[in-house]
Amino acid sequence: MYLGGCTASFLFLSPDLDLEGSRPTRRWGLLSLLWAPYRLLHPHRGISHTYLYGPVSRLAYAALLVLALARLTGGEEAVLSLVQRALAFPVHTGAFLLGYFAAQWVHLIQDGILPFGLSGRRSCRCSKRRTRRKHSWKG
Ligand SMILES: [Zn+2]
Repeated sequence: MYLGGCTASFLFLSPDLDLEGSRPTRRWGLLSLLWAPYRLLHPHRGISHTYLYGPVSRLAYAALLVLALARLTGGEEAVLSLVQRALAFPVHTGAFLLGYFAAQWVHLIQDGILPFGLSGRRSCRCSKRRTRRKHSWKG
């Protein structure tokens, strides 16, 4: 479950979903349009690249997307069943979330954003091939 959380985090819920044309955004294919509102609310490397708000905001946004999809397709029962299973196996759910957060934090460290206000390098490893949007550096 830990590795599943890491994988989901790294491939599909990366902090770089705030950047149009980034690899994580492109992995969503046409569904990347669903993340456009998130990108509008979160400039690249802004608050989406923080240790708590960023990961929680992407999980909450993804949950809203799943709920909306379930509502549109009548799949509320399936979502409710998934939530009940997650609650019934808290160790597994915790391991998934630990993996999710670990991968998010590794991304931030690799971006040079260190926890507790420590300073780090300010290089960007984000894919810029398909975007002309300027990067904004915090601090
Ligand atoms: Zn990044």
